[in-house]
Amino acid sequence: MDERRIPPKQKVLTAIKKVLKRYLKIESQDRLADEVLRELRKEDKNYVITPTRVKRIALEIPEIEVKAKTKKSINLQKIEKCPICENEIVERKIKNLVGKEIIVGYKCTKCGYESDLEAFMPMKYEFVWKG
Ligand SMILES: [Zn+2]
Repeated sequence: MDERRIPPKQKVLTAIKKVLKRYLKIESQDRLADEVLRELRKEDKNYVITPTRVKRIALEIPEIEVKAKTKKSINLQKIEKCPICENEIVERKIKNLVGKEIIVGYKCTKCGYESDLEAFMPMKYEFVWKG
């Protein structure tokens, strides 16, 4: 049986940049994940990755703009501190189609806690290379 392997973040980051440099714009999280996985599997065919992880990493890349394909602003329940360790939490924000910033998740600055809008409702994203 094949052994599934989780690619290290740095490799995912590089693969995302490579894919977006090539296509300049990708209109769905699933398609981005497919392309990134294809890139990663050139190196190790057992690599697996979820579209959510790809999106989270893409959000950290300054050369990439992530837009939410919605006009509505979504009200996530406001979290003041990490529900696990009670440390400071940072908001992940992106812009929607009308240029309004919306919160798409939270990340703890201490422990590994992360939450994502996907846990509450399905979202569509667009990824644009600005590099
Ligand atoms: Zn925490």
